Amino acid sequence: MSSDGREGAGKFLFHTWTHTARISRAIAVLLMIWGGMIVSVFIPGLHLILVPLLFVAGLVGAVLIYRQKQMLLKGEAPCPACGGENSLAKQAIRFPKQIQCVKCGVNLSITGSE
Ligand SMILES: [Zn+2]
Repeated sequence: MSSDGREGAGKFLFHTWTHTARISRAIAVLLMIWGGMIVSVFIPGLHLILVPLLFVAGLVGAVLIYRQKQMLLKGEAPCPACGGENSLAKQAIRFPKQIQCVKCGVNLSITGSE
């Protein structure tokens, strides 16, 4: 984590999915969205839009979920400039992540390893 050349270390807790778990999650998302697609076949009028939309959304959603390797469960990032504590909530995260210090407003860049 850095700010204007100054660096500090934060504490981050991640959940990392195995390759098998990522495939399982992607298949689950695909089946869930395509399940909605099958249901939408029986909706008069809307099925003309919903079926192709949900077909593509299922594929895109599955790829996005498969590509997600880890999730930040919680994080604490002390500001190198002022020492203020910045908490990060549970989120999908990609490095480098830009945040703004809640105390002094300086832009912080959080870097990490995948
Ligand atoms: Zn600060």
